[in-house]
Amino acid sequence: TTTTIGVDVGGTKIAVGVLRGDELIEKHVQSTPTTGWVSVLDTIAQQVRDLTCTHTDVAGIGVGVPGPISPDRKRVLFAPNIYGFTDVPITDGLHERLGLPIHLENDAKAAALAEATVGAARGSSSCVFITVSTGIGSGIVINGKVWRGANGIAGELGHIRVNPGGTVSGAGLDGSLEAVASGTAIARDASYALKRDVTTAEAFALAQRGDKIARRVVEQAMDYIGVTIADLGKLIDPDVFVIGGGVAMVGDYFFERVQTAADAYAFAPIHIRRALLGTDAGVIGAALAARE
Ligand code: BGC
Repeated sequence: TTTTIGVDVGGTKIAVGVLRGDELIEKHVQSTPTTGWVSVLDTIAQQVRDLTCTHTDVAGIGVGVPGPISPDRKRVLFAPNIYGFTDVPITDGLHERLGLPIHLENDAKAAALAEATVGAARGSSSCVFITVSTGIGSGIVINGKVWRGANGIAGELGHIRVNPGGTVSGAGLDGSLEAVASGTAIARDASYALKRDVTTAEAFALAQRGDKIARRVVEQAMDYIGVTIADLGKLIDPDVFVIGGGVAMVGDYFFERVQTAADAYAFAPIHIRRALLGTDAGVIGAALAARE
């Protein structure tokens, strides 16, 4: 059995775990330093060292990051939702610190690989995994392999424009899916409309209790996601779609609404499944990427 370490770098948290065979045998979570990418690399290196002390058979490290990576898989080009994270040399930076093989991957592509290999899409020959959280990302997995595209940006779903002229996203694009339907967008729009600060979870809770304003905000977001899935059906036509990420954790309300919106615009049946690995998908996927 192969043992690898997976690192999932998020805007607020960094998770590090050990994958042995199909099993995540240990996992630790820390806050993401806000003092720049050098401290982020130092934190990751320290977390990895703590694990390699007890797990001496680690063959490599996979790192998932919330932004597109360079075609040579050495740098994060930019992370739309982490301030100051532009053109970061993660692979070399961590290799210098740790001396182990480093495999860089986009966070959504990593989670997609995990869901396709050991999660909700196991056994399907093609799947599109979508994460709806702070940002929106996706990974396309065909016959067990992540589709990267010519420049490595295939699956950057959050940045397709669904409402030209609309709100501008953290990547500077007006009316992108992420600008209108991410957790960030929902909290922003709900807070504005309700005239007080609410989180995404509170917006959904209010909507489910019948608050009309909150309902309009969250349902518009879910409808955008559903229609986008219908469009992806026309473009890729995968066996299954898997949706994960914090916003999808809302559960039935989310999945029913998204399915209805997708069905209304689809040409063929759309099979949507709930992610199975929850918040572990990123770490497991990064660890799987380290086996490539
Ligand atoms: C980034 C993607 C990432 C997604 C989810 C987007 O803003 O561009 O690369 O997968 O957020 O973190």
